[in-house]
Amino acid sequence: MVVSRSDKLHVFPAFHKVTGRRVLIVGGGDEAAAKVRLLGESVAEISVVAAELSPALREAIVSTGACHLPRDFEASDVEGAVLVFAASGEEVEDRRVVAAARARGIPANAVDRPDICDFYTPALVNRAPLAVAITTTGAAPVAARRLRARLETMLPRDYGRFIAFADSLRGWVFSRLRDGAARRRFWAGFFDSAALSLFSADDRDGAVREAERLIDHAAMPARGFVSLVGAGPGAEDLLTLRAQRVLQEADIIFHDALVPEAVIAQGRRDAERVNVGKRKGCHAKSQEEINRLLIAAAREGCRVVRLKAGDPMVFGRAGEELAALRAAGIAHDVVPGVTAGLAAAADLELPLTLRGTASSLVFTTGHDMHGEALPDWARLAAGGVTLAIYMGRSVAADIAAQLADAGLSADTPVAVVENASRADKRMLVGTLNDLPALAGRDDLSGPTLVVVGEAVAAARLERAEPLHISERLAA
Ligand code: SAH
Repeated sequence: MVVSRSDKLHVFPAFHKVTGRRVLIVGGGDEAAAKVRLLGESVAEISVVAAELSPALREAIVSTGACHLPRDFEASDVEGAVLVFAASGEEVEDRRVVAAARARGIPANAVDRPDICDFYTPALVNRAPLAVAITTTGAAPVAARRLRARLETMLPRDYGRFIAFADSLRGWVFSRLRDGAARRRFWAGFFDSAALSLFSADDRDGAVREAERLIDHAAMPARGFVSLVGAGPGAEDLLTLRAQRVLQEADIIFHDALVPEAVIAQGRRDAERVNVGKRKGCHAKSQEEINRLLIAAAREGCRVVRLKAGDPMVFGRAGEELAALRAAGIAHDVVPGVTAGLAAAADLELPLTLRGTASSLVFTTGHDMHGEALPDWARLAAGGVTLAIYMGRSVAADIAAQLADAGLSADTPVAVVENASRADKRMLVGTLNDLPALAGRDDLSGPTLVVVGEAVAAARLERAEPLHISERLAA
């Protein structure tokens, strides 16, 4: 049993206003100097209380214009400060500073003493007015600093000035584009447009012309568009970059029940989300109903994402939806995803094709459209074919019988992955003989993918459990 760790933060990031406000730093050494420099990234009025100054601190005070009180700390020093930093290097003194701040309801930070801090200081990327603050909640400050270094190289130096420039255009854009959706289209395009390069090259007029062009573009009546998007097998980092981009542009997302929240959450926060799949107690919408919803949303001018588990073109009813979109004359495209069969093979380290053993791969299903097992693929399984079987769990016994009828030996290896690619995945292994037991495994509640064929023997199976329950008990 994997103990699940909470993914909730023990801190909440917020940005403190410091215009015209005083921040107090107590201490005379290099730690205090580091805090003075950090605070110096803001317009806060910095006060330093220290009887003596290290050379680095003296320099930091001069370069930031901080005010220095050359004496020992007194509790009343915290008065009027909005934040207090204890950086004396002495535990007793730091505790005294923190206590004085807390007694007056002022949040305090003590350098290298996380247990008495009210807040942590972040690694900071300053592109004023843009600020990126990073914390690992004290777990790995080095990791935070490395990430900051990467962000520093990613964000152009004058990105902050560009953002301020964008802000100065806001009123003008509002007057030109009265429609909220059009404005959103404009801004989404603006920050990725040539305007940034033009602005960086000091061509402000060019940047404004680029904005004009984007406004004209955004003002054109929106044409609805439907993307059939593969969400992958469940792990959110198996989404393609294109799928992620399309999700962020979507006004409305129609998703299957199998698609996990973490994937859907990559869409815009204010995008509408509609679950069109089966949920406990609720019926799935019919295919006709889904087709109608997609077409209606596109006709309203929406960017529509139809988000499907795995790849949309593999057992995903893409055929019906594409036919309906074509018939309705709706512009559309398809964004592929990692299908469950491939994710299961990766989890098992199972080469689906293997020189000398398996030269073909069949994606098949235990169900046809009417819920009955299809008989005709079974004969393929004999001789050098790996079968990836979708929706095979409830009809596992039928599949096993048909494969045996088709001449497959009872000891042909079989592997099963539940929740492929996800943290809670389970892998099972056995033979064709054991496959009927799959239907009775009530301990499996997630989607399962069955792989049959000699190539299974080449997988890494030591982490897999026995497929047949009695073997499991015997083990
Ligand atoms: N379009 C999807 C398949 C949809 S059919 C794809 O390309 O993966 C639904 C079936 O897919 C499930 O019954 C199961 O057999 C399989 N499946 C989907 N996600 C899975 C996962 N994470 N692990 C194992 N099987 C999965």
